[in-house]
Formats: sequence, C-alpha cells, structure tokens
Amino acid sequence: MTIQEQYKTRVRELLSSGTVKMVIGYKAGTTADRRRPLFIRTPEEADQLLLDSACIANLSGYLIAEGLLSDEKRVGIFLKPDGIRTINILAAEAQLNIEQIIVLGFDITGQEVTALQGETAGDFSALIESIKEGAPEALKNPLIDQLEQLNPKERFAYWQAEFSRCIKCYACRQACPMCYCRRCIVDCNQPQWVNTSSHTLGNFEWNIVRAFHLSGRCVGCGNCDRACPVNIPLRLINARMAQEVLGSFDHLAGMSDTQEPVLASFKKDDSETFIL
Ligand code: SF4
Ligand code: SF4
Repeated sequence: MTIQEQYKTRVRELLSSGTVKMVIGYKAGTTADRRRPLFIRTPEEADQLLLDSACIANLSGYLIAEGLLSDEKRVGIFLKPDGIRTINILAAEAQLNIEQIIVLGFDITGQEVTALQGETAGDFSALIESIKEGAPEALKNPLIDQLEQLNPKERFAYWQAEFSRCIKCYACRQACPMCYCRRCIVDCNQPQWVNTSSHTLGNFEWNIVRAFHLSGRCVGCGNCDRACPVNIPLRLINARMAQEVLGSFDHLAGMSDTQEPVLASFKKDDSETFIL
C-alpha cells in the first residue's frame, strides 16, 4: 500500500471513530505541481487526499484560524518536520493547545515521501533534536556566504535592491504561520508606524520589522518565499537571523511546546543592563 493510501485509511479511522472533528491535508491544485489545502470532515472526503512530493506547504497556520480549536475537540493535520516545529512554537506562544493536535507526519526527500512515526508533537522530540544537531550545516547557504563577504554598504545596497521590488501585498505575512497577530503593526494607522506605500523606506521598514519579529521563530518552511509575487528571497534573511540566534543563544525555533521565545525572554541575571 502506498503511503498515501495508508494515510487515507488512518484519516477515515480518525474521523469515523470521532477521535478528530477534522483533518487538514492536501488536495490537487490548479496545476499538476501544485497542491491546495483540504479540510476533511467526513470519512468519504478523505478520497480527495493527496500526499506526494508536491505537498510542501506548511499547513499549520490553519490551526489558529479563529474558533477552530475553541471547542476543545481534536484536529488532525499533515505536517512535515518544519510544521511540527511550528505547532511547538504556536503552543509555546499560547496560540493553541497541543493536546488537541493529532500529527500525521511525513517528510520529503527529492521525490520520495516517507511517513514519520508518532501522532503527538512530543513523539517527534528525538527527530527535532537531530534537526538541531544538523542545523549549523542545514542553515548554510552559498548566497549568505557571498553576502557576508560584502562590506555593510554593499550588503545594504543588495537588500535595498531586493526590497525595492516589494509591492506591499503582505502575501508573505498571510502565508506565514508565525504571523498570527489579529492586527499587524503595519495595518495600524493611528499612529501610522510603518508607511503603507511601496517606496524604498517603507519597504525596508516592513521587511526589517518582519525579519526581527521572525527571529528565533522562523522554521524555514518557505511559505513566505513561495507566496511573494516578486520573488524576494525572504527565507534568506530569516535563515541568516536563525544562524545568529543559534550561534549566540543555542536556540533553534520549535524544539518543544515549552521553549521560551529567544527575543521575548528576560532573565534577572542578564549581563546586559539596557533592559533595567
Ligand atoms: S518567515 Fe517564511 S519560512 Fe519562516 S516560518 Fe514564516 S513562512 Fe515559514
Ligand atoms: S509577499 Fe513579497 S511583495 Fe508582498 S509584501 Fe511580502 S515581500 Fe513584499
């Protein structure tokens, strides 16, 4: 039996036994290489489920849609390791109750899709530990190395050119499971913190503010990159920040559902005095 058929059977079992009220998975998209989210509420709807190497989107953002988990019923969701790390962060930030989530885990290597063993986020802690061990290597990127060779003025010019293409559509924010504020700072107009026009200064402010908000929280899923209509390499800046956070604080985002947020934690014995 293929992994897709195995998971269809499991989804039908979970729904028919009442273990979950819904399973979030993937179905065919507009083209052969694209998938779109599937919200399965009955065993029959599991027939539409697809699980293959095109199922790359991190679906975890749908879990925090308003009201979905408020009845305390369980929801199943198809997640790759980056998605499992995401639900750990969302739980640590009090956005969801991890006990309500049944994980249907899978991973993709090239064209091959494999099942991950376990169904609760805690079942994957050894896997996530191994991801942390490999993170210094995994976060390496030839373009980051090239940018590091530039002087600050040249690096600034590179990002200025990239951000100059931004049209302030906010698709990156909408696609990112970590951007869950009900009202984003860029949507506040009294006072207007960040200019909404897509001019150089406003674009820089928006993209830098977002990169800081994602520091120590981005799992590198790529939802933002894929959503950006002008192909700004958004993951690159987040990966560079992740390198910094890993090196300075030994912190990789999403290790557990109790992990403290690295840029929002305070310790009384902090050697920096700026907080006091
Ligand atoms: S910033 Fe991009 S890569 Fe990072 S978690 Fe959000 S969508 Fe994923
Ligand atoms: S998706 Fe791209 S163009 Fe749209 S706001 Fe984000 S960076 Fe700018």
